[in-house]
Order: sequence, then C-alpha cells, then structure tokens
Amino acid sequence: MAIERSFSMIKPDAVRRNITGAITTMLEEAGLRIIACKRVHMSKSQAEEFYAVHKERPFFAELTEFMSSGPVIVQILEGENAIARNRDIMGATNPAEAKAGTIRKKFALSLGENSIHGSDAAATAAQEMAYWFSGSEITG
Ligand code: ATP
Ligand code: MG
Repeated sequence: MAIERSFSMIKPDAVRRNITGAITTMLEEAGLRIIACKRVHMSKSQAEEFYAVHKERPFFAELTEFMSSGPVIVQILEGENAIARNRDIMGATNPAEAKAGTIRKKFALSLGENSIHGSDAAATAAQEMAYWFSGSEITG
C-alpha cells in the first residue's frame, strides 16, 4: 500500500464544542499522522470556493453559512492509504447512516453539522492541501 497524504478540516460545530483533540486522537489511532495543522476562520467566499462543487445544490447556502460561522482546524494527514482511511474513520456523511466507531457517528450533530471534512480523491486532496498550506508549513 502506498503512503499518501490527505486533507482534513474539523468543522465549526466540533471546534465550538472543544472536541478537536478527541477527533484528532481518532485520526491518529486510525494510523494517520498530522504533518501540518492550523486554525483558520473562513470567510463566506472562501467557504463558497471550498465547496464550489456543490454550488447548485439546495443546501449550498446553509453549508457555506455554517462553514464560515466559526473557526475550523485544517490538517494534512499522512499514512498508508490515507485518503480512503480518513474517509473510513470519518464515517458516512449523514451521522444516522455512519457506522459505530466512526467520528461522525460519535460526534456529528446532523447531516449538515457533521464535524469533519475529508478529501474524497487524490486530485481533490492535492488541490485542497495546496490551497490551505504552503510548503514550509508541512513539517512531515
Ligand atoms: P465533506 O465534503 O464535508 O467531507 P462528504 O464528502 O461526506 O462531506 P458531500 O456530499 O461532499 O459529503 O457534502 C458536503 C457537505 O455538505 C456534507 O459533509 C454536509 O456538511 C453538507 N451536506 C451534504 N448534504 C446535505 C444536505 N442534504 N443538507 C444539508 N447539508 C448537507
Ligand atoms: Mg465531499
């Protein structure tokens, strides 16, 4: 299996509830290493750019309001099969459908306020890592 990197964002609902450490522990226990990390507060337009793929969806306004409503933690995760592994430990988008032992099952409040984002493919991971981090912020 290949060592990969993926991008993760702990969403405002989780930052507000002070559970970023608990979520990071679950990522680490799944075998992922945090090789870059910072706290940012997205503007509405940054949130719109980040989720541009969903701009035609009925929940786009709600999603971008929520994502810009408070600070988030952006991270780069490294490990074997990191992209798929991160999606596995996150769990399904809707916490009602997420498996036991996943982050969203344990912490998500709703389909919208679901505590964590993770890149869904190599191309989006590369694009999201490059958008949020400069080379010198990635320490390995
Ligand atoms: P993310 O991209 O945040 O990792 P995901 O890939 O599991 O989540 P997407 O389909 O990309 O799911 O949806 C992006 C986000 O939009 C979801 O995580 C959720 O916060 C929000 N969302 C998705 N569907 C709905 C919906 N029907 N109503 C409200 N919010 C939604
Ligand atoms: Mg997605």
